[in-house]
Amino acid sequence: MNAVDVLIVGGGLTGCATAWHLAERGARVLLIEAGELNGGASGQNAGSLHFQIERRFLENGPALADQASRVLALNRLAIEDWRILDQQFGPAMEIVMHGGLMVAHSDAEVALLERKAAREAEFGVPTELLDATGVAKIAPYLSPDIRAAAWLADEGHANPRTITRLLAARAIESGATVRSRTRLADVSRSARGFHLTLESGEAREQIRADRVLLATGAATMATGVLFNLHLPVFPAGLTMTATERTAPMIGHLVQHVGRRLSMKQTESGNILIGGGWASKLQRGATSFDLSCPATIDPDALQANLRAAADTVPGVAALNIIRSWTGIVALTADQLPLVGAVSRAPGLYVAAGGSGFTLGPTFARLLAAEMAGERDGDSGLALFSPDRFDHLNGFMG
Ligand SMILES: Cc1cc2nc3c(=O)[nH]c(=O)nc-3n(C[C@H](O)[C@H](O)[C@H](O)COP(=O)(O)OP(=O)(O)OC[C@H]3O[C@@H](n4cnc5c(N)ncnc54)[C@H](O)[C@@H]3O)c2cc1C
Repeated sequence: MNAVDVLIVGGGLTGCATAWHLAERGARVLLIEAGELNGGASGQNAGSLHFQIERRFLENGPALADQASRVLALNRLAIEDWRILDQQFGPAMEIVMHGGLMVAHSDAEVALLERKAAREAEFGVPTELLDATGVAKIAPYLSPDIRAAAWLADEGHANPRTITRLLAARAIESGATVRSRTRLADVSRSARGFHLTLESGEAREQIRADRVLLATGAATMATGVLFNLHLPVFPAGLTMTATERTAPMIGHLVQHVGRRLSMKQTESGNILIGGGWASKLQRGATSFDLSCPATIDPDALQANLRAAADTVPGVAALNIIRSWTGIVALTADQLPLVGAVSRAPGLYVAAGGSGFTLGPTFARLLAAEMAGERDGDSGLALFSPDRFDHLNGFMG
């Protein structure tokens, strides 16, 4: 039976970046991906690098907002990680960090921005509040109805189509083995680690691994079952839209504090519009069928485009060339689930949260933890899967 130090399950950004960091340390790493590399959320997302508190954290009352604000400690690290990736990989990742604006149209939204900025200041994230004049000066493309905005100079975007593949290539160069169309199908424990059954088409193969990382995104509930664990990660379908290419118009990441909206212009001139509008998950016999793409909800799409045109009126004149859906992973408390699962020694998980913005940071910190380089708080303690250990109290 083949043996590896670490099996990484899932060929999205998190899995590929962790494979790279571990292989660089000399670990024997095998990464398997059930479909194609970057075929999950990592390749479908909006590519926003957002380090301000996200709007979705603010819409479910102050208690959840307080709790979710704690992710800001990680956002600060992520700013640095993206700057380092930009240096290491150069223009291929299309990392642009020219600043981001979270805008407000109404008095109530301005008040929300003020409360948000106060929370960010507590965590050392240097958001700056701009009034309408300040906004118009740096972002004349925004609607004159915008009353205020929170500005963070480090925000931006990057290209989700290329990044994961570049990270996978770097992992392979560093010695990792990466196999697509290979699925984790079964698991058992022995004194010498995990015995794992991998499936590639009709072929089945057994391998042994000392440690396993589940970087399986929205499928983490299902991969947890293979380890007899409840890992409370829930899928949600989201929608994205791209306009035709146009001359440079939007120089920043644009988000809205009161409406679901994110906008940015790619290097090639397309404007990407998203921000958390739902698409419809397909139903299987007893749960959602994640092997089928979610379907577009025309009402949600229309509302998304209306929010975009209300915020950046110039987009109303552009043709839409494509809308698509992707499936994101959510946890019950909105914080990511990242770290060791104490109940199953040797098992690690990384899912949930804004995993494009935070994926490189999850990967860097996890690799250090998995390599045994950190004794104390690795920076991930807050996101430990053990906070949901009570769900597994009766699982044996
Ligand atoms: C439409 C959309 C927009 C988003 N926008 C943003 C954004 O702007 N900024 C941001 O920070 N985040 C955004 N996100 C979230 C972000 O994309 C995800 O958090 C991140 O990509 C998760 O990466 P991952 O590597 O953990 O998971 P994924 O990229 O989902 O990869 C998981 C992989 O695991 C594989 N897998 C599952 N089960 C098995 C198995 N049994 N065996 C082998 N492989 C398996 C899957 O095939 C999949 O490829 C968005 C998400 C969506 C859907």
